Amino acid sequence: MRHDRSMSAHPAPRTVAVVGAGMIGLSTAWFLQEHGVEVVVVDRRAVAAGASWGNTGWVTPTLATPLPDPAVLRAGIRGLLDRQSAIYLPRSTIAHEWRFLLRFIGSCTHPAWQRSMAALRPLQDAAGETFEQLAGTADDLVVTSRDVHCGFESDEQADGLLEALRAVAGTGLAVDMDLLTGAQVRAAEPAMSERVSVGVRLGGQRYIDPPRFCEALAGQVSARGGKLLLGSAVASVASVAEDGGRPALAFEDGQSERFDAVVLATGAWLPRLGRAHGVRAQLVAGRGYSFSVRTERMPGGPTYFPAAKVACTPLADRLRITGTMEFGDVEAPLDMRRINTVERNVRPLLAGVDWSSRSDEWVGGRPVTADGRPLLGASATPGVYIAGGHGMWGITYGPLSGKLVAGQVVSGVRPEALAPFDPLRR
Ligand SMILES: Cc1cc2nc3c(=O)[nH]c(=O)nc-3n(C[C@H](O)[C@H](O)[C@H](O)COP(=O)(O)OP(=O)(O)OC[C@H]3O[C@@H](n4cnc5c(N)ncnc54)[C@H](O)[C@@H]3O)c2cc1C
Repeated sequence: MRHDRSMSAHPAPRTVAVVGAGMIGLSTAWFLQEHGVEVVVVDRRAVAAGASWGNTGWVTPTLATPLPDPAVLRAGIRGLLDRQSAIYLPRSTIAHEWRFLLRFIGSCTHPAWQRSMAALRPLQDAAGETFEQLAGTADDLVVTSRDVHCGFESDEQADGLLEALRAVAGTGLAVDMDLLTGAQVRAAEPAMSERVSVGVRLGGQRYIDPPRFCEALAGQVSARGGKLLLGSAVASVASVAEDGGRPALAFEDGQSERFDAVVLATGAWLPRLGRAHGVRAQLVAGRGYSFSVRTERMPGGPTYFPAAKVACTPLADRLRITGTMEFGDVEAPLDMRRINTVERNVRPLLAGVDWSSRSDEWVGGRPVTADGRPLLGASATPGVYIAGGHGMWGITYGPLSGKLVAGQVVSGVRPEALAPFDPLRR
């Protein structure tokens, strides 16, 4: 445990502003309220206006491993430059984000992956329980426990996932899985087409409906006395010397407001506000796409095609289909060609889908750090905290991260589990 840089006696904050109403910000606000703190959640747009809206919604600690992985390099840099590939690195991004890319590639080694996994292991163990803790408090915070079924067109395709799962099991996480024939996986998940000849069942996983869950969480924060300030963009955060160093939010419309503490949970926008508070880690938007379709064979749960890098989640009466990782500008408009690539990659693998019903096309930026670890804890400015950078897995780790950061904000003591996620690391 470590006390925050600034203070030996840490007065527990009474009022805290959380900037960002995504999964991380809302979770942090909810857990701050558990400590009796008055919260204001600020978002430039709306609840779940960033990556927390159109994502896959899986709470799958078994799969929630660091993105920088030796397998990324084995797949080859050339593939990354191909617009059609599932992980796409536009040339314009190379020019702007070369520092990130150098760090990211440097993290794609076995020892670096092992270090990041060791850091994430305590979170993997507790992530699911924290979801259940949240969900147990309100009927509309729905978390569904379900196996994930993975489908492949060949044994060779399945080898990649099996190797990844063996590596995860090697870190000590219990991996509940079975290898299935095509017939077995189609019997379990009839949405898979005849092209699927090998399957893997992953047990002990969960999923949520992301927009509904975030709306419900925001509703709970509000019902418990929190304030939601939506449509208010924060321009900067400064500590006010004549007010004992209390942090103040400066809004883009010229207003400002002081709080006892501020948590920056602005997802892929984190560097913009965070840099002034010592956040130097390389973070870029890993843009992912999704859309939804009607289908006559709705999967019973999460369905994954790892070789095509496409994941499907049943959400109410539609199937959400998600895919691709495109490093780039978080504000860039949706590129319909990427949506078409996802559809083309998954079409042969799903049966019973009405492709003409495609709608809800969406793009959102995952906050991806170069070393694959989130940024959680105290910033260089007293009273200003950072919560973000979860990349591919901010839904899975969101509630737990919120709980741990809220604990640190209130006590001034960094939980041991957050030591590897120091937001001031480079
Ligand atoms: C296609 C796709 C699939 C995914 N699938 C999964 C999955 O199955 N499981 C999983 O665990 N994770 C998944 N993820 C990752 C997950 O969605 C993200 O890690 C997570 O949503 C990040 O949450 P966040 O709260 O940090 O950021 P966001 O949800 O992006 O929230 C940040 C918020 O900050 C606000 N903001 C930004 N700047 C300001 C400002 N200056 N002032 C005020 N407000 C501001 C934004 O409007 C936004 O609402 C997926 C992501 C994508 C794109």
